[in-house]
Amino acid sequence: MTNEQTIIHPFESRGFGKAPFKCVAVTKNVYSACPGHSQPGGTCDYCGTGIMYEFHIQSSDGRKFKVGSDCVEKTDKDLSRQVKTVRRNYRTPDQIQADQAEKDAKRAEWNREQDARQERLEQEMRQAEIANKDLIRVFGILAEGSRSQFISDMYGQLMTTPFQKFSPRQKDIICDIYAKHITGEKTHKGRKSNEYIDAYNEAWKAARSLDPSYQ
Ligand SMILES: [Zn+2]
Repeated sequence: MTNEQTIIHPFESRGFGKAPFKCVAVTKNVYSACPGHSQPGGTCDYCGTGIMYEFHIQSSDGRKFKVGSDCVEKTDKDLSRQVKTVRRNYRTPDQIQADQAEKDAKRAEWNREQDARQERLEQEMRQAEIANKDLIRVFGILAEGSRSQFISDMYGQLMTTPFQKFSPRQKDIICDIYAKHITGEKTHKGRKSNEYIDAYNEAWKAARSLDPSYQ
């Protein structure tokens, strides 16, 4: 930090504008006369030395110039800290391109995953619709004549969800409702014949077997 009361900032005394100064950018300037040989392609505005990393400085009154890190180090500790940060964050055009390529690749991978997930979901829905066909038919009939939220929820889910993905309790209830409908429980009025029980069990098992894990 310069004491402005007594010391004029070296950059200021050279006509580079008023302190404080800030570092706004860095560029790499390499001169390559022939392959395998490279040298600084820039020049420090303060000392005239060849520089590879040009630190672009702006004065508080808007003057712009470029200097090497050595001259900043020698003249302004605060600015030197800024320069080091800017240098640390510097990316070559190749690095910027590599970063972008990596970002693009990640995005493409994410898109592929989303597409695959969507495809799996759609396939699952198609399979559910085929596999649950009988259940969907029965629950469709029941949903039409019923105000039960459960029935209409199950009806909707059966069209899109493989049966094995329902909870154990849902599976039991769905099978029970289905078997009762198939065997026409209403006509039995509590008199459960063996014939009815056999038919009920058969229908229940048929529905339950939609779950591949069911033995
Ligand atoms: Zn210099």
